[in-house]
Amino acid sequence: MANTEIKTIKLLPLKGAVVFPSVSTSLDVGRGKSIKALENAMASNQLVFLTNQKDVTITDPGKDDVHDMGTVAHIKQLVKMPNGAVRAFVDGKYRAKLHVFIDRGEYLEAEIERIPVEDAESLTTIASIRTLKEVFEDFRNHFRNSPDDEIERILALEDFHQMVDQLTSILPIPHEKQQELLEVTDLNERIIALIKVINFEKEINQLKNKIDQDVKTSIDAHQREFYLREQMKVIQTELSGKDGRSDDAKELSEKLIAAEMPEEVYTRAMKELDRFNTVPQSSPESAVIRTYLTWLSDLPWSKQSKGIIDLKRVQAILDQDHYGLDKVKERIIEFLAVQKLTKSLKAPIICLVGPPGVGKTSLAKSIARATKREFVRVSLGGVRDEAEIRGHRRTYIGAMPGRIIQGIKKAGTNNPVFLLDEIDKMSSDFRGDPSSAMLEVLDPEQNHTFSDHYIEEAFDLSKVMFIATANSLSGIPSPLRDRMEIIEVSSYTEIEKFHIAKNHLVPKQLKQHGLPKAKVQFQAESLKTIIQYYTREAGVRSLERQIGTVCRKITRKFVENKSSSVDISPTTITDLLGKKQFEHRNSETESLVGVAMGLAYTSFGGDILQIEVSLCKGKGKLELTGKLGDVMKESAQTAFSYVRANAAKLGIAENFYEKTDIHIHVPEGAVPKDGPSAGITITTALVSALTNKPVNKDIGMTGEVTLRGRVLPIGGLKEKSISAHRSGLKTIICPKKNEKDLDDIPQMVKDEIKYIFVTDVEEVLQLALLEK
Ligand code: ADP
Repeated sequence: MANTEIKTIKLLPLKGAVVFPSVSTSLDVGRGKSIKALENAMASNQLVFLTNQKDVTITDPGKDDVHDMGTVAHIKQLVKMPNGAVRAFVDGKYRAKLHVFIDRGEYLEAEIERIPVEDAESLTTIASIRTLKEVFEDFRNHFRNSPDDEIERILALEDFHQMVDQLTSILPIPHEKQQELLEVTDLNERIIALIKVINFEKEINQLKNKIDQDVKTSIDAHQREFYLREQMKVIQTELSGKDGRSDDAKELSEKLIAAEMPEEVYTRAMKELDRFNTVPQSSPESAVIRTYLTWLSDLPWSKQSKGIIDLKRVQAILDQDHYGLDKVKERIIEFLAVQKLTKSLKAPIICLVGPPGVGKTSLAKSIARATKREFVRVSLGGVRDEAEIRGHRRTYIGAMPGRIIQGIKKAGTNNPVFLLDEIDKMSSDFRGDPSSAMLEVLDPEQNHTFSDHYIEEAFDLSKVMFIATANSLSGIPSPLRDRMEIIEVSSYTEIEKFHIAKNHLVPKQLKQHGLPKAKVQFQAESLKTIIQYYTREAGVRSLERQIGTVCRKITRKFVENKSSSVDISPTTITDLLGKKQFEHRNSETESLVGVAMGLAYTSFGGDILQIEVSLCKGKGKLELTGKLGDVMKESAQTAFSYVRANAAKLGIAENFYEKTDIHIHVPEGAVPKDGPSAGITITTALVSALTNKPVNKDIGMTGEVTLRGRVLPIGGLKEKSISAHRSGLKTIICPKKNEKDLDDIPQMVKDEIKYIFVTDVEEVLQLALLEK
């Protein structure tokens, strides 16, 4: 064969590199034998046989250590490198096969056979080349090793041999793979092999990219967090000039130790403190833990006040602070005596019940002062949610302990007098029943381990002296009522109010306004004027306020005119307080037809209640106006039915309702009237209207009435009597069954009012209706 020639030529074994025909490259050569081979070749025909070593670690390879298929290259230039190596710039010429491996000692030589290059222009080849180009085009995205224009140049080559070889040589594939491709002598086969390699690489690449991506994302997330934390640390240190967190933690830890909390709470606190140290300081979590720990350290776990009970002292202080209230004081002293003797607070809790302003709060304050305890007051009015008593769980944003724990913190000791104000104004809804939480607070068997949702650790409430207040008993859920010792504090009569004002309120207000006691004189009459015309209440709260107003105005006079002393007369009062605010609803000046005076009992104390009935032509319609509660409407219906049923006996035409409309009205709108005790009053007014007999103006009445006319007992006779007395009524008609209540009524009232006890409404009518 013309092309087949055997040639002896210098041999250069390559480590991990494959040189293809038509490819120009440079080779760094370090081995002595190889340098010699190059130099010798350079000196003769400038050709060298480049063959790839099978094992790159062998320094002095023999025949079996090199691949048979290699490339004959033309050496263009040899450059000596500073380290003694030589860089050879070579152009690959053709494939050749090694036949004889000759070791000349100084260098290696080979007898080789040139592999002929067949014609490439077959249709199959052209088709294969197209496929190759397509496949390669896809692969280019993953192909970053060679510049684009180099690739373009290669793909544009018209000689397919050159194109395929050059493409193979720039592919980023292991040299073993390149060697395999070098060994394929048939062009078409080589193209197919190359396509396969590219496809394989493509898949590998895709897989690798995916793996890279996965690994990268996870590393990215971690790195990001790490990086941010480091940055945060630097910022914090920069800002505070020191490591802020450790300072905080130290302070908290000192406070926690100082709080002398029970062992288990302390362990818990320390755990939280550890957590505090690990979470990033700027995270919301950190703030939550800090607030929690601050709460724990602020609670008086073991701080107590002396809490002595000296009955004489208590009596003295109660007397000093309050006028009258003898029975109430007595009950309080008895209650404390029991506690002193049993040395425990496992007695029921005191509940002071009475209208506003009668001194419930101030009694509790006096008890605290007398027993040398701290005093806290928590209002339960309007509390609907159990969480308000027991706190929110810490998982809520902005969670807080409940009012009990807040109160304890405010007290600063674990045995204060704790006033639960307006316990009757709690209500329950879907958020839970606060009274069940209150039960736990007030139950001496349970409250030594009271657990607040926020604090989570049990707090001992058993040393706290709870005192509750309420305006009316009816608002207190009965399980709660059972746990309390009820002490009623009732309204004051005008005389009592006068004494309270004179002995307590005036000196208190003078002192508060910085007025010298000796120079300001309230005349007795002026105090009475304030009581009668400027206040209408069961207690003395607005009385105190009005006295305060007077004092304020006097103070101004003192400052402006430098007046030396003031004597306050009733005229001064009208000057200072303006027009009279309340004309006392006194009894009528004349006895009228269809107008009867009832007595009402509200949570604000007693009041008189005028009921009017008028008749007009009609068809028996019963009209009710004024602020009547449901119960009162029923009373009106009952009265109407009674009158219809007993018309003949009462001297009324039996068919009166066929031609008459009846209108019942309760003029005074200020009092919520919701009791049945207006029964006899409505009946009296109705019969008076129908019989045209006037009702005795001096009589007030109260009593529930049944359909058959029986009079049933009512509540609040004391309050009602006081208001009747205030209004100038002379006689009170009330149910027989209320006779026992006379004991409670102030003597002064009893002296001036005549009580008549009845069992039937007929008696009432006989007493109240005057003959025409
Ligand atoms: P409550 O709690 O019953 O609504 P407070 O205790 O607030 O009433 O009383 C209102 C004001 O009236 C307080 O300043 C209180 O000292 C005063 N007060 C009430 N009753 C008396 C009393 N019997 N003696 C002296 N001051 C009284």
